[in-house]
Amino acid sequence: MKLFDTHCHLNDEAFRDDVPAVLTRAREAGVENLLVVGYDLASSQQALKLAEDFPGIFAAVGFHPHEAATVSGEDLAKIGKMLTHEKVVALGEIGLDYHYDHSPRELQREVFRQQLAVAAKMKKPVIIHVREAHPDLLAGLKDGGLPYRGVMHCYSGSKELTREYLKLNMYISIGGPVTFTNAKKMPEMLKEIPTERLLIETDAPYLTPHPFRGQRNEPAYLTRVAMKISEILGLTPREVADLTRNNAYACFGIDESNSDGGRSWS
Ligand SMILES: [Zn+2]
Ligand SMILES: [Zn+2]
Repeated sequence: MKLFDTHCHLNDEAFRDDVPAVLTRAREAGVENLLVVGYDLASSQQALKLAEDFPGIFAAVGFHPHEAATVSGEDLAKIGKMLTHEKVVALGEIGLDYHYDHSPRELQREVFRQQLAVAAKMKKPVIIHVREAHPDLLAGLKDGGLPYRGVMHCYSGSKELTREYLKLNMYISIGGPVTFTNAKKMPEMLKEIPTERLLIETDAPYLTPHPFRGQRNEPAYLTRVAMKISEILGLTPREVADLTRNNAYACFGIDESNSDGGRSWS
């Protein structure tokens, strides 16, 4: 199996001391490519550094809605500049989070709109984080200089919402929650996603899949997500790995021959 973890935070404090060991375990589990996603300026710079230091790793740069209150025009210009780097393949994670409301909603919408404009200008896909804000997020995507593609990360919306996002050119990325025993609506939603729009992720260090809940999540556990999806869709784990990996290459504009898959991380 060769897997692509399309959303993880090896740039997080939780991985400060052991990135090489985490990557070795990922490789042993068959995870060949990782997208390390930024959430503020420092984590975006760290994502890029990891992408430069290790083959098979790519970076996304951007401001999480939690950080909206702190973002300056200068910061956005820096993100725009980083998007010209060949290993920076997306702008993210960006979006709206009305669950925690760490930044005022109005500012979240404004910074989301500004980042969508940067993505459209730089012709890069966006990685979207949304929590309890679907109507505003859909509205923002529709009139915010629609980027040509993007990802709904760690998605768990209804099947009706899923149809709306698919219409807007979004890929749907599924993470650890699909393995939770209380994920009753996930199978129905999963079947709504055309196989060419499906991605998988860990969101490590968060959202650890069953049976490792309670521990720090890491990319090696992506196999659990692939296995659960294969069960639900009646495919082999290998088929799920192949189709989601190829979808990731297409979504992020990565040429497989340049993906560094198969090269050693050590
Ligand atoms: Zn997120
Ligand atoms: Zn994330």
